[in-house]
Amino acid sequence: MQKIQQQILELRKKLHYHNRRYYVDDAPEISDYEYDQLYKELQALEAGHPELITPDSPTQRVGDKPAGQFLTVPHAKPMLSLENTYSEGELRDFEARIKKLLPGEDLEYVVELKIDGVGISVVYENGLMARGVTRGDGFSGEEITQNIRAIRSIPLSVDSADPAAGAFEVRGEVYIHRKEFERINLEREENGEAAFANPRNAAAGSLRLLDSRVTASRNLRAFFYYADFPPEAGITTQDQALAKLDALGFKTNPNRARCRDMEEVLAFIRHWEGKRDGLDYDVDGMVVKVNRLDLRERLGSTSKSPRWAVAFKYPAQQAATRIKDIVVQVGRTGTLTPVAELEPVFLSGSTISRATLHNEEEVARKDIRVGDHVFIEKGGEIIPKVIKVILEKRTGEELLFQFPAECPECGASTYKPEGEVARRCSNSACPAQLKERLRHFASRAAMDIDHLGPSIIDKLVDAGMVRDAADLYSLDYQRVASFDLMGEKSARNLGEAMEKSKGAGLKRLIFSLGIRFVGARAAEILSEHFDSMDKLAEAREEDLESIHEIGPKIARSVVLFFRQEENLKVISKLKEAGIRMEAVKQERGQLPLKGKQFVLTGTLSSMTRNEAKEKLARLGGRVMSSVTAKTDFLVCGEEPGSKLKKARELNVRALEEKELLEMIGEALS
Ligand SMILES: [Zn+2]
Repeated sequence: MQKIQQQILELRKKLHYHNRRYYVDDAPEISDYEYDQLYKELQALEAGHPELITPDSPTQRVGDKPAGQFLTVPHAKPMLSLENTYSEGELRDFEARIKKLLPGEDLEYVVELKIDGVGISVVYENGLMARGVTRGDGFSGEEITQNIRAIRSIPLSVDSADPAAGAFEVRGEVYIHRKEFERINLEREENGEAAFANPRNAAAGSLRLLDSRVTASRNLRAFFYYADFPPEAGITTQDQALAKLDALGFKTNPNRARCRDMEEVLAFIRHWEGKRDGLDYDVDGMVVKVNRLDLRERLGSTSKSPRWAVAFKYPAQQAATRIKDIVVQVGRTGTLTPVAELEPVFLSGSTISRATLHNEEEVARKDIRVGDHVFIEKGGEIIPKVIKVILEKRTGEELLFQFPAECPECGASTYKPEGEVARRCSNSACPAQLKERLRHFASRAAMDIDHLGPSIIDKLVDAGMVRDAADLYSLDYQRVASFDLMGEKSARNLGEAMEKSKGAGLKRLIFSLGIRFVGARAAEILSEHFDSMDKLAEAREEDLESIHEIGPKIARSVVLFFRQEENLKVISKLKEAGIRMEAVKQERGQLPLKGKQFVLTGTLSSMTRNEAKEKLARLGGRVMSSVTAKTDFLVCGEEPGSKLKKARELNVRALEEKELLEMIGEALS
């Protein structure tokens, strides 16, 4: 027993260390695979000895139960907001005010980047993370400890032998990398959800999710800039506080400077003005703080802000340019998006020649006309947007933008579905839509077809050789080889890639079909539940809805998709071409619980629901969310709900937890 405890402690230490190397220091020493192996080893040991699990174990970061709601709790000390300044003159005024209040004192400043994220406060007690709260209105915030725990760069515990570790509060900014922001938005688009406007909104939304598992999947990060250490820690300056935070395993922003006077502060601020665009995250200014804590104490604060710190905001990244034309782009689902073509202008690190105008209403609301001079802005988004028209520059020559009544690509009529802002092309054979659909079909997360890039897709569609995805599998490669810039070798490569993609598997195939609201994750779940395309095509709405994680919106969309003659035709053509339509499950035939449907209710004592689900799935069983006539077993934990009643009505066999364990045990033996 002692040996196991020792093993567990060593594994945790290793995992803590490597977690820190990865998330805090950005300098991993082992591969993800090796990390996973250590993690699994720990998980297995803890599963055998649940009494040895401690709250700061790396396995305990993410809870498996969503929170009901967040409680509002007061901050021990208010999280005041900083006064903003916008010019060097205002910063000099700030210094003058301080000097008046502290005559004869030697002043020193620390300047830090102002991260554009969401403020949080985290309290540690006896070395363990005790509570995490959002900034809220500065006086109280929402308690989101479970979600703070899910951020891997924030330590669950600190060295309790450190004199600073008794009880302390740290404050920081939760943010999201721009790349991650793009990934999340892409996923949301696939799922038919609204995109986040910028990385800050994405971070804020992710922090306030009730399910910390989803928060964990968002790869949030945090920089810490404040700590209220106990006097025993002997910290007397901001500088030392940041160094102590580093030493305890918190991530602080490395781009900071200790400055002896305001001239040095200004030089550092100027230095970062252009450089901040090169970072992976958004920075909206700088924070200047008095370094010595005793001086801060003497300066105190007004009712709104501390007197010892100030924020400097860089001017918004806007530029003026002219709209040469407004064109309309057609997306995969036929959505028409107006796009402004601009006179090229340099803005935050790149030359901009296009800006999105979102939709018809937006163009009308901002009264944007062809020929207008406009301000454009680049936020966290990749595509800049038009902020407003410079009316003083209007000459009267500008042209009102008429949203086309017909699709600019195929000439078909357009329509606006009720409740949506976007206009759509009504022609499902629209070549622009077809091109977008084929791009999706070939993309990495879908069929992952090398050598089938956008330009070759354009050529195939324009030549009339491809009318749907299935046509890609019966190409005339001699003709393909004759295309500009193709040649025989490229055509052969494409042929081989197409051949290879036939075995991509059911999960990818489902995703590649572009069924509305069915993203990569939903496709994975569907392929797990329906072993083949045929079974999925026959699924009824209620079958789909009974699957955990599949909501009514997806269920309805899947059923509608398989009701359309054209879609069925494409699928049968794909089948004829030899595309694999079945899920590959190893030795599925021999799995002891194959095809058995389970529903779980109440609280299990020996494992979480997720663990039960995983165990059953490994044995071939399926866990559904509601009891139907097809359910084989209802597993009842403590306090089973209405499902038990339903199971009795439908004559579904109810299992006690003990019986479930026996069943799993038998299946394993
Ligand atoms: Zn069209």
